[in-house]
Amino acid sequence: MNFKVFYADRGSLSEEEFESLAGSVTKELSQAINTLGRFGLERAASGGKAKYFGSMAEGASIVATYFDTEDLLHVYLPVFQSNADLLPSVCIHELGHRHWYKNLNGSQRGMWNKKYVPASQSTVDRIQRLMKGGKYKRYMAVVDEFTNPNERLVCIHVVNALIVNKYPIELLPNLDVREHPATKEFCYGSKLYSLIPLVSAYARESDYEDYAETFRAFIEGGGNLRAIREESTRTALTELFKKVTFNA
Ligand SMILES: [Zn+2]
Repeated sequence: MNFKVFYADRGSLSEEEFESLAGSVTKELSQAINTLGRFGLERAASGGKAKYFGSMAEGASIVATYFDTEDLLHVYLPVFQSNADLLPSVCIHELGHRHWYKNLNGSQRGMWNKKYVPASQSTVDRIQRLMKGGKYKRYMAVVDEFTNPNERLVCIHVVNALIVNKYPIELLPNLDVREHPATKEFCYGSKLYSLIPLVSAYARESDYEDYAETFRAFIEGGGNLRAIREESTRTALTELFKKVTFNA
């Protein structure tokens, strides 16, 4: 896998320092590309270009920037003199930006931005079973049967649709949630819902930044988003990430 490298100004670095740091970054980039290859994501790097600077961009807070219009990765080498351990993560994060700009289409980006996922069929099955068997007096009592946040959210969507459509609660045992027009599309997963209420603490900054960080976390986590502790939310976000990323 080739990643074309250009050298810009040497800035504050001596020739030896510049060459040594540029060498480490190049090594780390090809390492990152190998890692991506194990996930079938070579195209995140394929045909890429990097330009190395011996100066800082805006202080030490910006270590690298990907410019989509030129398809060029700027790397500010002085930061890595004292923080070489940042390099692997920085490389994967930046290649995540490149994948977002080069390989994802508008509808994939839209799905990611809105964190749209389909209702899990096992959750729908459980809602159906509860409604058939339970004698509920309040719709919220159905929601309260669910303890994990993602299943609760799915249940809230179903229940809200029934409330808005004035479905009488005493008829719940007769309801087929996959047949009723108010809940049908949602329960079959063709109408999506958003995970944003559950992942807002995780999904910070802008959407493309959030994608690159998730890309890094997914690769470094060996194909899992370990930073999300709650399992049903982690599973749903991981599935969304994979759908958006691998169908690219
Ligand atoms: Zn970034």
